[in-house]
Amino acid sequence: MRESFSQKVKNQTAAAEIRKKCCRHTLSDMAVDAVPGPERLRDIWEKCRCDGCRAVFFRELFRICGSVTDPKKSYQLDFSLEDPESAVFLRDCLGEAGFSFGSSVRKGRSVLWLRDSGSVEDFLAYLGATSASFDVMNAKIDREFRGNVNRQVNFDTANIEKQLKAVRKYADAVECLKAAGRYDLLPEDLRLTGDLRVANEQLNLEELGKLHDPPISKSGVKHRLEKILRAAEELEEESGT
Ligand SMILES: [Zn+2]
Repeated sequence: MRESFSQKVKNQTAAAEIRKKCCRHTLSDMAVDAVPGPERLRDIWEKCRCDGCRAVFFRELFRICGSVTDPKKSYQLDFSLEDPESAVFLRDCLGEAGFSFGSSVRKGRSVLWLRDSGSVEDFLAYLGATSASFDVMNAKIDREFRGNVNRQVNFDTANIEKQLKAVRKYADAVECLKAAGRYDLLPEDLRLTGDLRVANEQLNLEELGKLHDPPISKSGVKHRLEKILRAAEELEEESGT
């Protein structure tokens, strides 16, 4: 089984080197398998001397009751505690360290959470999970890049649809005139352009112009198609539809 992202974070923080004596002391206080009660938590927190101590305090709690989702899927970091008082206290501690966690109750447990990539990234870095923190940042960049590509694709699709709609407008005019027996009454050059338009839906006006012999300009093509369109509109007005 692949190592979960939570496990990766826990392994990274456990491997982070702890140099200061005060921080090592915090680590030994926190060497437990369950979240200490609120009194004990307060005791340990009050003995924390530096940011390193605080990071150790949080990372050990994270080891016991924390989880974080794979940033490729979502940005979600949780502490899930059985005791609501401990949760309230931990939330205050996190706030003091500059991290503003949301809180809610889920399946009878108190959950403290972060839900945005920036906070998750910062908190993981604070815990000492530097490489996991980079994973979050990279996932965010990837996602933004793909978002931009999608927007470009949507934009292109919209343009193609617009073009096809314009092509159909002229093709409909040709059909309409043919059905009424009026198409053959048009000048030959208009009919030639009209037929080329119907037969080559995928081509733009410039490409269509090159199919003429001799080739004509984009605006020349447009001009002829507009004449066909007007003839069809006149026909419609005549027949009162
Ligand atoms: Zn310390």
